[in-house]
Amino acid sequence: MTSSEIRDHFLAFFKGKNHTIVPSAPMVIKDDPTLMFTNAGMNQFKEYFLGNSVAKHPRIADTQKCLRVSGKHNDLEEVGKDTYHHTMFEMLGNWSFGDYFKKEAIQWAWELLTQVYGIEKESLYVSVFEGSKDEDDLDMDAEALELWKAIVPEDRIIFGNKKDNFWEMGDQGPCGPCSEIHVDIRSKEERSKIPGAQLVNQDHPEVIEIWNLVFMQYNRKADGSLEPLPEKHVDTGMGFERLCMVLQGVHSSYDSDLFTPLVKELELVSGKSYGNDKETDIAFRVVVDHIRAVAFSIADGQLPSNNGAGYVIRRILRRAVRYGFTFLGISEPFIYKLVKVLVATMGTAFPELKKQKVLIENVIKEEEHSFLKTLEQGLTLLDNVISKSKGKVVDGEKAFELYDTFGFPIDLTSLILSEKGFELDEAGFDKAMQKQKARSRSASEVSKDDWQIVSGNGEQEFLGYDQLSAEVQLVKYRKVVTKKEGTQFQLVFDKTPFYPEGGGQVGDKGYLEVPNGDVVYILDTKRENNEIVHYAKNLPKHPDATLIAVVDEVQRARTARNHSATHLLHQGLRLILGEHVEQKGSAVHSGHLRFDFSHFAKLTKEEIRRVEGFVNEKIQEQIPLEEQRNIPMKKALEEGAMALFGEKYGELVRTVRYGDSIELCGGTHVRNTGDIWHFKIISEGAIAAGVRRIEAITSDAVRQFYEEKDKQLDEIKSHLKSSGDPVKAVEQMLEENNAMKKEIEALLKAKAKALKIQLKQELESVDDFYFLAKEVDLDAAAMKDLAFEMGQEEEKLFLLFASEKDGKALLSCYISKELVESKGWNAGKIVKDLGQYIQGGGGGQPFYATAGGKNPAGIQKALKEVRSLIR
Ligand code: ATP
Ligand code: MG
Repeated sequence: MTSSEIRDHFLAFFKGKNHTIVPSAPMVIKDDPTLMFTNAGMNQFKEYFLGNSVAKHPRIADTQKCLRVSGKHNDLEEVGKDTYHHTMFEMLGNWSFGDYFKKEAIQWAWELLTQVYGIEKESLYVSVFEGSKDEDDLDMDAEALELWKAIVPEDRIIFGNKKDNFWEMGDQGPCGPCSEIHVDIRSKEERSKIPGAQLVNQDHPEVIEIWNLVFMQYNRKADGSLEPLPEKHVDTGMGFERLCMVLQGVHSSYDSDLFTPLVKELELVSGKSYGNDKETDIAFRVVVDHIRAVAFSIADGQLPSNNGAGYVIRRILRRAVRYGFTFLGISEPFIYKLVKVLVATMGTAFPELKKQKVLIENVIKEEEHSFLKTLEQGLTLLDNVISKSKGKVVDGEKAFELYDTFGFPIDLTSLILSEKGFELDEAGFDKAMQKQKARSRSASEVSKDDWQIVSGNGEQEFLGYDQLSAEVQLVKYRKVVTKKEGTQFQLVFDKTPFYPEGGGQVGDKGYLEVPNGDVVYILDTKRENNEIVHYAKNLPKHPDATLIAVVDEVQRARTARNHSATHLLHQGLRLILGEHVEQKGSAVHSGHLRFDFSHFAKLTKEEIRRVEGFVNEKIQEQIPLEEQRNIPMKKALEEGAMALFGEKYGELVRTVRYGDSIELCGGTHVRNTGDIWHFKIISEGAIAAGVRRIEAITSDAVRQFYEEKDKQLDEIKSHLKSSGDPVKAVEQMLEENNAMKKEIEALLKAKAKALKIQLKQELESVDDFYFLAKEVDLDAAAMKDLAFEMGQEEEKLFLLFASEKDGKALLSCYISKELVESKGWNAGKIVKDLGQYIQGGGGGQPFYATAGGKNPAGIQKALKEVRSLIR
């Protein structure tokens, strides 16, 4: 079976068991304060498990793009070293939300693996949770055990502890026992030597876990205790790459058809071959794995950058470059060359890759290029560190500095050091690392109490499209303490007019009116697990009273204008620059808007003017907002709505339309484009290869902008002392300025000439040469010119000029080449010695040198000294 057939069979099997098939959620998660990347299939259904909303379908199946490179699940450092962990992988999953439970989950998993895929039963092992004697005091999962006993002989059932068989989403939240299915792909001979049961969960590369069936039945509370969930759920995840490996009869997922085309291409690009050498092979696996993680992230709209999720992606790419550099001997960009093969193998299942191929290639190439430059610099810096180190051990703190400030990888440092016969002070490095970790940890430390329930739960309603204030009832609240914000309270209401940060738009601010006349300020609003969470500095005194929630109207109006303008800008850019323009990010604030998009060249002044003109035209046309809420995604797309890659959409969506601009969008907008008043681009620039950023303002910010400009112009006019056209006045002034410059130059020349004539008369004849030591009123450059001009006219000349400029002393010494040779004099040495009189120093060449000092009072002494020296 090819990998795509394997994927199709999985989905078809569960469709046959009444599951609804849904698309993969984006791999990069936006607008979730608790998670950067999807790390398991269940992430997109978290809110169902938590009971915050009711699942639209009780049974769901899908394949989910996952990335395990940060946080609780981080496999990054292992990837490449073994043959079955990836950074980015697909997780096949089936779910029951309060519907079927252990019995069906177990039976269907077995049926699919053994009957549909035909995996030999004898090679499968299953595990069951053994219970725990700790504070949780959990019983063994007897129910799962009984169910498995009915299908699998007991010697292939293994008992697992909490670490392996009790799945938790995080420190808090839904959890429960799980049953894993492991497969033994060793040869018959190997199997007869050691039974597979002994190798399960022992990190054996041929006895590996492929499927985890999780039975969600508890909720882990903030105090660490468990409470049973009101409804029980099933959450399963099967590693697609591992499944392909098993079904295609190979012993490494890198030998399945998902990876072989990439490996072949890398062989061509690197001139090395896979499968001959341990270290080369690791590098091959690292590169062909990481290209997927990076390409899929870029396709989801997450570009490499120097913070947050973007930084994680940058580090993954850098890890691949480094392996290529060190073990494949490649020192120029090469990873981008694999993109075309990746698109050919996965572009059909994931069209976002195909559509953005060129952008992905460009971004990767540019990143590689700049990191290779960093590597080069790092190598020089490292050489420096080595040359300064006493003995054979290199300071760990210095190595950490290289790592921290220049992104120079520590394992590369160790490698280079050992090649040069040096050693890294690892303890010192670890200490510096721990210190820095502690610093950043304490900055982001959070403690969250459990939610306190105030009144009945229920589906939360967002009223903010139609009203800016509402009577609300507090449903629950909790205290959160962070280092940065101090103590805050998170409040959830039964309904709310507050817009939660999302889709690039900032969260609403405002206040709550409390019956006794008090107000509680709302500082921010965010969405978390599909709940709208309001951040307040304090708690209403009577949490169960009816409150009036009021959104800050002025801020909201400004934000709405900026958001609607963003849509028009998007439309204008596509119209004027072309259809290749795709939104790559946006940030809509009340003060300004920011829009990132794919485009390969700097916008010309003319293009910027045309885009501005387009948006302002749309504003003048006063196009009314046409909004559709809760329409099927399919219908919205048919109507021409623009959907963004990397955005998570439900089946029912909202469309925002102004004339021909139609977007899927949850943000708040103006009723009519006329309400935007005016639009102005204030900056345009590149943020990555092939990605540009525009910053713009609207409405009263534009008025302010022009008022500022007007004030500036008035100031300029008053400086110009001309009431006429300031441009003409400036031009005229520049002309006058140039003429004056020329005049000054001529005057200075005449002055220098006169000075030269005078000085020539003052020359003193000593032996066979001329000599002069004198204070002159010239700057350094003029002194030099004068000395060289005089030197042209006299063959044997010794000059020492001194001058005082801005309270500083300057000396310059000229000695004809002849004298340098015949007498062995050295101007450099002379000014250095004279430097003591003016409290300074200097140097230069034997025939010309200068010195500067902070003591002009010493000039005469210096002149006297040189005179007596010569005489
Ligand atoms: P392992 O112990 O092998 O790291 P896990 O216990 O971390 O696996 P789960 O969190 O239970 O895995 O994820 C469910 C399934 O996803 C696993 O059974 C496995 O098939 C697959 N999987 C997990 N991590 C990876 C990875 N890094 N690369 C590829 N597949 C993975
Ligand atoms: Mg793991």
